[in-house]
Amino acid sequence: MTPPLPPEVSPRPSACPGLWRIVAARDGGICRIKLPGGLLLADQADAVADAAERFAGGVIEATNRANLQIRGIGDDHRGLVEHLLVAGLGPRDAAGDDVRNLMVSPLAGLDPAMVFDTRPLAGQVLDLLESTPRFHKLSAKFAMQLDGGEALAMLEHAHDLWLSAMQREGRIWLRFGLASSLSNSQVLGAVPVDQGLALVRAVLERFLDLATPEQSRMRQLLQVCPVEHFLEGLPLQIDTSSLAWQRPATTSAWLGVLPQRQGVALGVAPPLGRLTPAMLRGAAHVVRQWGDGSLRLTPWQSLVLTNLNPTHVQPAREHLAALGLLCHSEHPLARVVACTGSSGCAKGQADTKADAVTLAGLLHHGAPGSVHLSACPRSCAMAHTAPATLLARAPGRYDLYLRDARQPGFGRLRGADLTPEEAGAMLDLPTEHLDD
Ligand code: SF4
Repeated sequence: MTPPLPPEVSPRPSACPGLWRIVAARDGGICRIKLPGGLLLADQADAVADAAERFAGGVIEATNRANLQIRGIGDDHRGLVEHLLVAGLGPRDAAGDDVRNLMVSPLAGLDPAMVFDTRPLAGQVLDLLESTPRFHKLSAKFAMQLDGGEALAMLEHAHDLWLSAMQREGRIWLRFGLASSLSNSQVLGAVPVDQGLALVRAVLERFLDLATPEQSRMRQLLQVCPVEHFLEGLPLQIDTSSLAWQRPATTSAWLGVLPQRQGVALGVAPPLGRLTPAMLRGAAHVVRQWGDGSLRLTPWQSLVLTNLNPTHVQPAREHLAALGLLCHSEHPLARVVACTGSSGCAKGQADTKADAVTLAGLLHHGAPGSVHLSACPRSCAMAHTAPATLLARAPGRYDLYLRDARQPGFGRLRGADLTPEEAGAMLDLPTEHLDD
């Protein structure tokens, strides 16, 4: 079978990897596999592991948008893509690959705190994106979030459009916002849940009507187009009676045992976001044996194994830990996040992956994901600001920033031109002392 070639449809060409758009890096090609709602079936996990070994150097990355990437791809791009398509890992229409950017909770449909099960509506939104040629003109970075009120949810990533469920007078409604994150909760209005798909369609149509090719993201459009003008043109009734709202806080734990309405889930993470084929096959084996035959990727570059019987958690954990997966929040490597760095990326000023291992060994405190090493200002590994960021300036040398809501970017400069050891000595404090 010859994989179809994607037509060039977007007036906003992308440098992001896609399934067909295998982007060259220092360590070979990168192919990004977009997963619907982060869902990966056990057989698909095996297929990705096989593909990484057959067509690349065996490095698989979990991304911060709950997708997977294969790195170090050799010359046989066609063979790789065909292998992934046979496993059902492609879009229904090649032109619809890039736009499949809808984030849901890794425990959608299962979380004890959820207001409603977002999965059916998420499926409709993804179908809409894939099957509407006009929406294929959206940027590969244009992203949406559908929040069902789950305790396990990413609140800090900014989205071009987000929708968040609430109960009012016995009905479910969807609040929504544009070019913002759930954590800052800038609500613009609400619609009944059965109008959710129509709202998404209307917002996307309105964006494409108004945006120039240079305005690829909602925030760029709203810099020149008043939001009131944007909303006035939406062809549906928007309720504006409950704009004051703060999204309830979420659990900060995504590793270890996670509660479900029934049964439990287990969160595990590959060190520094990198999976080996053996890890992926091992996780597939565990969910076939003790779970529901599927995995969910998360925006924390981790995996969630859903619908486990509590009695199977311990053997599952032992099996996964033996493969090198992190199964507890207290693991030092869970505290650090690092981009590819100079070993694989030409833009990298330092080998962040290696320096992150050094740094993790010096940290005795800290929540998962609390220290971020970025080898250049693009911040590929994190889509939000970590409590502490080490920004590389040269091999083995970093500027240390502490998050500060009053300052843009990475926050307040705490130390300049530090070695990982010097930064580690400054950071080995409980997280609450790092965060202003
Ligand atoms: S943050 Fe910079 S150095 Fe790191 S992977 Fe991204 S582009 Fe490369």
